[in-house]
Amino acid sequence: MDRIFYNGVIKTVDDAYPVVSAVCVKNGIIMHVGSDAEMLRFQSDQTELIDLKGRFMMPGFIDSHMHMILTHYQNMQLDLGGCRTKKEVLKLLAEEADRHRREGRENEWIKGVNFNQDYWADEKRIPTRLELDAATGDVPCLILRCCGHTASHNTKALEIMGVMDEKEGETSLNMLFLDDGTPQGQLFEGDAELSSQYVEVPSVEEYVQWIRDESANCAKLGLVGIHSDDLNMVAPGRDVQNVMDAYKIASESGQMSVKVYEQCRIEEAGLLKAFIEKYPRGTMFGTRFVTNAIKEMGDGSLGAHSAVLRGSYANDPKAKGVQVHTDGEMNELIQIAHSGGYPVAVHCIGDGAVEQVLNAMELAQYNDPKPDIRHGIVHCQIMGTDQVRRMQKNNVLAYVQPVFCRADSGIVDDCVGPELAKQSYDWRLFADLGVHQSGGSDCPVEPCDPIPNIYYAVTRDNGKGGSWYPENAVTMEEAIRMFTIEGAYAGYAEATRGSITVGKYADFVVLSQDLTKIDPKDILNTKILMTVLEGETTYDGR
Ligand SMILES: [Zn+2]
Repeated sequence: MDRIFYNGVIKTVDDAYPVVSAVCVKNGIIMHVGSDAEMLRFQSDQTELIDLKGRFMMPGFIDSHMHMILTHYQNMQLDLGGCRTKKEVLKLLAEEADRHRREGRENEWIKGVNFNQDYWADEKRIPTRLELDAATGDVPCLILRCCGHTASHNTKALEIMGVMDEKEGETSLNMLFLDDGTPQGQLFEGDAELSSQYVEVPSVEEYVQWIRDESANCAKLGLVGIHSDDLNMVAPGRDVQNVMDAYKIASESGQMSVKVYEQCRIEEAGLLKAFIEKYPRGTMFGTRFVTNAIKEMGDGSLGAHSAVLRGSYANDPKAKGVQVHTDGEMNELIQIAHSGGYPVAVHCIGDGAVEQVLNAMELAQYNDPKPDIRHGIVHCQIMGTDQVRRMQKNNVLAYVQPVFCRADSGIVDDCVGPELAKQSYDWRLFADLGVHQSGGSDCPVEPCDPIPNIYYAVTRDNGKGGSWYPENAVTMEEAIRMFTIEGAYAGYAEATRGSITVGKYADFVVLSQDLTKIDPKDILNTKILMTVLEGETTYDGR
């Protein structure tokens, strides 16, 4: 044996032998599991013995939806996520603008990211172009909300983007206007990223470095796998080839500390066909990268009132939400992916978007039956119970982010009313109906840390000392499955990953406490002690 892990409390997530104390690993594969006495018999002179000292070990975590490349890119920007007032945001931007001027970089864009005005104590309103101008002057500046669905720009930025002459009622852009008819600064949805046309496409070498650094960060958080949505994110329309080339180099040269199941975001029919032709589903670079699903966008976000609802917003009856694709486009995109052998993973926050996407999936199945394909809906937030049942009937996967409970529990009831709110984020119903439900963070929206996710899945802590529709919570057992075997299932990898089972890859995480034994309120105190991917230690914090 190469390595024997022993003297542990090892939760396997495999019903055949739920808890063992030792595991033997050879060539990255689990060879035997059982008691210390049984396993230590397999040791030779070459075996590395790892004494777990009674600690809790389980299959390594899998995050079923995040954006690794975007996370790195955003970390390079000015982080406004910690700001608790609008005043603070404007002060940070003013300081950054001064820095640019001092260093002769006044033409370089300031990009503030991650802000969430719902957290601001003084005024929960996104700054206009004029307010940004007062802080930043002539240095081009934009600030992107944490959800990525809306951005506000200063005048200089709008001038560079060539949109200062747009007129209300005439413009094709999704944007706001001031009372005097000039642009207000805020753009939404696809147009929130308009400024990215001015971003230089990072080189393959830069991407390789980002992948190396971010995947090491994932390992620190106990992750062995992530489903990552990376294409057309940093420089939409221009970055696909560099990202794919970088993953090939990073994986094949051993620079990845996590396995990536790529959620390939291609939202135009012709480009999608060409991509599928070049990279069929299951295209692997080494063992740590695979093209797994096609990612599409259904709607926007709840906070920006751009999620598409079947009804109307309880607190904003005029808001309609923003449908990213017409029904015809969505039907076509899903049909192309489906018939090309790819499942889709479609971003849907509102029940109106869910409806559009379920219709498209059913149509694709009707035209070209593929009972085993694993289409899924990413987020599954505002939903009617009828739609969850429809997902069950069609074997549609749910990709959920329990940690969203932290920010959303305070706004959902106001946005959609209590009747629909209590049917929403209903992880209990998914579990009860046997819908395949995997868990993720949507990082950089939330950190890709599985521990808070598991905490919110189990507690639905509302941040006010109570619990938000606690009847919709899952059990610890179910939460663990969401971040292990179900993440593997969503990646068509349940035969090789996601549990500690003989013949699977040795993907483990060692924790400071036994998640199955502690009081739920202590979950957040859990530390990652070691992460093992394919038998190799990718993080050691012991
Ligand atoms: Zn996302």
